Amino acid sequence: MKKRISILGATGSIGTQTVDILSSINAEVAALTTNRNIKLLEEQARALKPKLCVAFDEAAAKELKIALADTDIEVQAGMQGLIAAATHTDCDTIVTAVVGMVGLLPTLAAIEAGKDIALANKETLVCAGQLVMNAAAKHSVKILPVDSEHSAIFQCVQAAQGNALDRIILTASGGPFFGKTAEELKQVTRKQALQHPNWSMGAKITTDSATMMNKGLELIEAMWLYGLSEDKIDIVVHRESIIHSLIEFTDGAVLAQLGMPDMRLPIQYALTYPARVPSKVPRLSLAEIGKMTFFAPDDVAFPALRLARRAAQQRGNVGAVMNGANEAAVGLFLQDALPFWQIPELVAHAMDEVPMQENPTLDDILESDRAARAAVNHWKMR
Ligand code: NDP
Ligand code: MG
Repeated sequence: MKKRISILGATGSIGTQTVDILSSINAEVAALTTNRNIKLLEEQARALKPKLCVAFDEAAAKELKIALADTDIEVQAGMQGLIAAATHTDCDTIVTAVVGMVGLLPTLAAIEAGKDIALANKETLVCAGQLVMNAAAKHSVKILPVDSEHSAIFQCVQAAQGNALDRIILTASGGPFFGKTAEELKQVTRKQALQHPNWSMGAKITTDSATMMNKGLELIEAMWLYGLSEDKIDIVVHRESIIHSLIEFTDGAVLAQLGMPDMRLPIQYALTYPARVPSKVPRLSLAEIGKMTFFAPDDVAFPALRLARRAAQQRGNVGAVMNGANEAAVGLFLQDALPFWQIPELVAHAMDEVPMQENPTLDDILESDRAARAAVNHWKMR
């Protein structure tokens, strides 16, 4: 049977890799979205012939409408457009590959419309894990992880035969600044932060990998996806990114999923699950790799790890506050308006500033995100 999908964030790193694997799986595309990259979106639209194209940016959407005027593809803009793409009647699965908490409302709308979610957009779970998982259970939709670590856990879980997980071990590459001290991190530049050793990704997640906030976000993502408390999720730095994560059972047995670092495999598996089909991903040769190394993470040089543990313990709106502050701080860093080492400092400041709420509603989450961004921008303006 043909898979019917929509891709939110089709022009990004995950989005373009999703488009790349479409020829390996039997799929048709209902909707594609971008923020502003209408040149690429137009190319994708002409090749994939979706029913709907969305540019989040209003001006870009106007241009896109003109560019696609000779086709019968509908064009929309803004959050309304993203939600229309996420709930399109011609799709069953949404690939959420937008960056940031802008993915939350469309993901919730897709779940309410009964669509399965191939989830790359981890910020959605970090902000509103409880609401998203509750909605998924209520509407009996699957949340299929695209993030490589969570896909690895998901793949290992297939072998669990219903046995509970005792522990999750998330692997982390350590990013470009592995081994640096807090003092040394005061000197690093944006250019250095954007050079990831193993993965080619969007600027926001690449910065998150450099601060290790990415692993912090993934800790919270794993907590919600697999229903384990924070103390049952360990992080180990594994420089080669060959072991994508591990699970441990009550008898101490540990299972891992290995492969070359290539996002096309987890993207493809989220879309073909439970089946497997041939892929373009290069095969693993352990002899060529030679050795794999492992280190305990350094949460003194990388305080984002401690902030994420705190958010995972406190739950409520704290994930939304941490994430909103991080998005704002990373945004400033990427505009050269904030030094690298101050990113976690501003996130900590916002987490101290914005009051905690235990059982936030969706409005509370949106307000917490706004308050966290305001706390960062206000602190910066002092
Ligand atoms: P990119 O920055 O490469 O792409 C993001 C996509 O979202 C682009 O299509 C972009 O449009 C669009 N977008 C950006 N801002 C908005 C907005 N405000 N409203 C609507 N659309 C927007 O990001 P990645 O592909 O690297 O990451 C996407 C998500 O996947 C993130 O949550 C990330 O954490 C997660 N992820 C990514 C991995 C990777 O290997 N890249 C691995 C695991 C998870 P435009 O092209 O116009 O900017
Ligand atoms: Mg990951």
